[in-house]
Amino acid sequence: KKKIAIMTSGGDSPGMNGVVRACVRMAIHLGCDAYCIYEGYEGLVRGGDLIRKMEWHDVRGWLSEGGTLIGTARCMAFFERAGRLAAARNLIAHGIDAVIICGGDGSLTGADRFRAEWPSLIEELEANGEYTALQLEPYRHLNIVGLVGSIDNDLSGTDATIGCYSALARICYAIDLIEATASSHSRAFVVEVMGRHCGWLALMAGVATGADFIFIPEKPREDNWREEMCGIVEQHRKLGKRKTIVIIAEGAIDREGNKITPNMVKDLLADKKGLALDTRITTLGHVQRGGTAVAYDRMLATLQGVEAVRAVLEATPETPTCVITINENKIVRKPLMEAVQDTKKVAQAIENQKFDEAMGLRDTEFSE
Ligand code: ADP
Repeated sequence: KKKIAIMTSGGDSPGMNGVVRACVRMAIHLGCDAYCIYEGYEGLVRGGDLIRKMEWHDVRGWLSEGGTLIGTARCMAFFERAGRLAAARNLIAHGIDAVIICGGDGSLTGADRFRAEWPSLIEELEANGEYTALQLEPYRHLNIVGLVGSIDNDLSGTDATIGCYSALARICYAIDLIEATASSHSRAFVVEVMGRHCGWLALMAGVATGADFIFIPEKPREDNWREEMCGIVEQHRKLGKRKTIVIIAEGAIDREGNKITPNMVKDLLADKKGLALDTRITTLGHVQRGGTAVAYDRMLATLQGVEAVRAVLEATPETPTCVITINENKIVRKPLMEAVQDTKKVAQAIENQKFDEAMGLRDTEFSE
């Protein structure tokens, strides 16, 4: 009986439980044994009861639960070969040679590295005398499939990551709540949202809430952003708007690469010599990650989870490690490292202040 393990890794995101549920049940449906690796790579390295066989009923009700019920962790040991050797030993001890990982680009990079190194890890176990060549014969190759769990929608090659629409919904809901006070008191609010290298949440929240102004990393503001923002806010006020909402991504910068902070924006809006608006800052923080997955993320988690099980069963030693994506409403398999490398290119372009290049690499249109 084929044994398939599922794990979640990196930052948690709504929909990860839906992924685990779909993978466990699809694996069982296809006659395989399903395992969960608890606590991300930490569980893989430590083994023992962190690798558990799952039954159909073990994941009942998981679709509507937030976070990840099998845990996630950052694991330093997995960056070292010794940690990955321990991980290989633990998988073989359970008879597992197929792993599905749901995480961000860091977790997926680690997964690809593990798979590439696998044959040499197996040889080392044999050289150590832990297993005979005959015992290791069924484990010469490790099949790995990735799924992207991230609230930032920050992986290239997929239209949406699992969790991003839940985070967006939470941000919009929070801004709706803030707007009641803003309108009542005629106030301005500067709302900081997550996104270090990717402004998708800030941009889409801006569109969905009708914000006055947004700041995102991919489109740094020109030197005159102060005049530009105040001019637009003033114009909106003149049209009778009683509230001002400015959304700022964590990674917001100007053309020189200097950080633009919520405090800078607040001071400007509140400046007595300028607009003199009663201005407050709201940092949404982990509220954005919490709670149950919205319908879209449940659907994405389920369809992609099912596809991941198929992909891991069909993988051959020759096929590159794949990641399950969604493109134009179709669930697709793509080479994992291409997606990861394209993602890194965007971050690097922003770091090197090649903003037009960064925008060109994004799937979303950022035109004014
Ligand atoms: P995310 O998956 O959300 O991007 P991280 O970048 O923190 O999160 O990665 C999660 C975990 O994946 C790390 O703690 C580490 O155990 C593993 N990992 C990340 N990058 C690598 C790598 N280059 N080699 C081995 N393991 C890695």
